Amino acid sequence: MKSAELIQQFKHLFKCPICQSTIAVSELKSFKCKNNHTFDFTKQGYLNLMVQQSNSHYDKTLFEYRHHLIVKTDFFSPLQKLITDIIHKEKFADDRKSLTILDVGCGEGSHLARILSQDGLERFTGFGLDIAKDGILQASKNYEGHVWLVGDLAKSPFADLSFQVLLNILSPSNYKEFIRLLAPNGIVIKVIPRPSYLKELRQFFFQKQEQEEYQNENTLTLFKENFHQVERYPLTYTKKLQTDELRSLVNMTPLTWQASEEKIEQFIREYSASAITVDLEVVVGKS
Ligand SMILES: [Zn+2]
Repeated sequence: MKSAELIQQFKHLFKCPICQSTIAVSELKSFKCKNNHTFDFTKQGYLNLMVQQSNSHYDKTLFEYRHHLIVKTDFFSPLQKLITDIIHKEKFADDRKSLTILDVGCGEGSHLARILSQDGLERFTGFGLDIAKDGILQASKNYEGHVWLVGDLAKSPFADLSFQVLLNILSPSNYKEFIRLLAPNGIVIKVIPRPSYLKELRQFFFQKQEQEEYQNENTLTLFKENFHQVERYPLTYTKKLQTDELRSLVNMTPLTWQASEEKIEQFIREYSASAITVDLEVVVGKS
């Protein structure tokens, strides 16, 4: 019910993902457009706005590992701190109106929830969108006070110019949609891997020292073609992970999807308490 009230308050940010007409909360039970397309609130409070169901590689177990790594370790803390600092630098019109941030591909929501728990970001209401139902289910169980949505960015359930900040962390983009969704003076914050990101895993599972540099360059070129005033923030550090933390990392990354259980356990034994490299770039742009 709480989340139905929250969504009702922000109903102007939504449109029906089927017919694009306006949509509103009906009796705190469902979200209904004027053509009677109806989406029911689940008992955990999230909304499933998928037009067609899709199978995701990302399942419940993977999201539990991801949650463990993000919340119980400081593996991604420097990244979250950098994103928080970037948002703080922006002078969003301070008119007491609530600001909105959408995490596109939010998974189980821990990055968004942790970023919004930082001082000074209380003015923001967080929206998390992911195609994976298991991720959104966990997000809605763990983090109240944000809006959690199962949905497809390509058939986006949002009205134009709805968000001051778009967040897109190590997840696919749709720049045309980003431009449509970004409010005037809004920013898009995209996190992309750099060549040495998780190089210890790459080396062990693929005998590759580094990721191909050009992938990163292509992503950057495309980003610059779509957004103005692009700023780049490289971020490189290492963290030592204990056995159970390392297990969470190994099980949440697509790098190990093809690897055998045995190989994974061997990696965990060999790399426990050794440094793992985080090598990322945060790019920020305006529409
Ligand atoms: Zn409709």
